[in-house]
Amino acid sequence: MKNLRHYTDDAFEFHKDVLKSKKTTIADPTYKDRVKRLENAVQSQFSVYDNNFVQNTLEDIESHGHTASEKSDLLKLYSYKISVIKKLKAKLTTTATNRIISTCPNCTISEINSFDHYLPKEEFPEFVVNPKNLFPSCTTCNGYKSTTWLKGDKRLFLNLYLDHLPEEQYLFVKLKVETDSVITAKFYLQNTGTIASDIFEIIESHYERLRLLQRFSENINEVVTSLENTINSFIDKLPIAKIREAVIEKSNKDKLAFGHNYWKSILEIALVTDVEYLKRFN
Ligand SMILES: [Zn+2]
Repeated sequence: MKNLRHYTDDAFEFHKDVLKSKKTTIADPTYKDRVKRLENAVQSQFSVYDNNFVQNTLEDIESHGHTASEKSDLLKLYSYKISVIKKLKAKLTTTATNRIISTCPNCTISEINSFDHYLPKEEFPEFVVNPKNLFPSCTTCNGYKSTTWLKGDKRLFLNLYLDHLPEEQYLFVKLKVETDSVITAKFYLQNTGTIASDIFEIIESHYERLRLLQRFSENINEVVTSLENTINSFIDKLPIAKIREAVIEKSNKDKLAFGHNYWKSILEIALVTDVEYLKRFN
């Protein structure tokens, strides 16, 4: 998991661009006019959003409270397939070095194929196409997130634009290396003491609700196989201590690229520092 760069242009202009891109249909010729009439209300909510965004207090925003028919009109603005939204995805997933992030920033397992609405669109239809409220995500994470986003006045999910992810390790893995080459890995979270408790609470709830620990454990095969192939390719050429050193160095570089608590790096380092695991290469 890694922080993302947020949208920095005028968010309300983006809302207007989405509306502009909609075609007037014979079936509903007044649609665009109806949404246009909501623009003053939407614009003022966008400015509330901007102010709370700057202070990272999105949980304090109250919904405008649109009528059912207004809500239905607003929700129709969003579609993952339309070109304005596709362009937004390209913008948000292009890194400073012009690489495209194609893997879901939440789980780093599945492909990005949706946008998650941080403030749920059912409760806040006015933000349905607010680019600061949209997070590139896979549909699995998006589905687990559903519409519950607060518990009391506390947020249940990390905001990868705003919540600064700790550099300290908080994701750990317990390995079980069996002699018949079976490896099981149980991931867990732990605050070793230096992470502020408010952010750690959100991290815990985020991982739990998106079933991340479980999903990491279920997806270890590729990492385990790839590491085994790496080690086997070097075992006749380098002492195991050197190979271990190189794997750790590579995994730490991956952490810089994919997040300080990138689960694959944490798993690789745990494996090459596990005495039982290394025995199989003797
Ligand atoms: Zn995901």
